[in-house]
Amino acid sequence: MTTLLSAEGLHKSFGKTSALDGAGIAIREGEVVAIMGPSGSGKSTLLHCLAGILPPDSGTVTYRGQDLTAMTDNARSELRRTEFGFVFQFGQLVPELTCLENVALPLRLSGMKRKDAERASRDWMERLEVDTVADQRPGETSGGQGQRVAVARALVTAPKVVFADEPTGALDSLNGERVMHLLTTAARETGAAVVLVTHEARVAAYSDREVVVRDGRSRDVEFVR
Ligand code: ADP
Ligand code: MG
Repeated sequence: MTTLLSAEGLHKSFGKTSALDGAGIAIREGEVVAIMGPSGSGKSTLLHCLAGILPPDSGTVTYRGQDLTAMTDNARSELRRTEFGFVFQFGQLVPELTCLENVALPLRLSGMKRKDAERASRDWMERLEVDTVADQRPGETSGGQGQRVAVARALVTAPKVVFADEPTGALDSLNGERVMHLLTTAARETGAAVVLVTHEARVAAYSDREVVVRDGRSRDVEFVR
């Protein structure tokens, strides 16, 4: 399978703290990859560099032959908006908007008419089993529902890659499993790759393969399942 997104020789420091020390990774089209490792090992930093959110101090990030680190900020933002989807541990929904408006937001920002955006968003909310909270605000939903709304919002633009940093970190195990099941099923149906950061083996079990990060260095564990 073709490599979609890769990073090589990433270094990143925050002051005197070295977060990445030569990390590399390759993500193929449509695969679900779990980035594992202890707390503080550099998982989130690796994810943020891969997603073009954080510039590495050195090293390259390549998406479909384009070097993300060499692009202008505008080009990189545009690529993130059109090709990538994001799910984080908490707090990524806009509290003032309804859940439906949250899911529709990325489509509205790319110029889609309200009616079309809301129709597409309702479909995604049904797939994630959160259509019942469409008219509620995020603060009125449960944690599991909120994360499933966030997954619907990440998928509504038909991204090629979904980045998820500890998406179940704030949930109990039953709700965590439900989020992972629905996220990975929907991603497999649409052909989106998923780059998932987790420190829980139970969550990583939804992936095709694991990459372990230790002290800012990554190692591929190929096809452990
Ligand atoms: P993980 O996600 O595996 O827990 P991180 O990538 O968040 O690890 O962090 C790796 C190292 O970099 C840690 O020592 C962390 O404290 C440090 N770090 C991460 N982000 C920042 C930041 N914005 N400012 C300062 N230090 C940071
Ligand atoms: Mg982290």
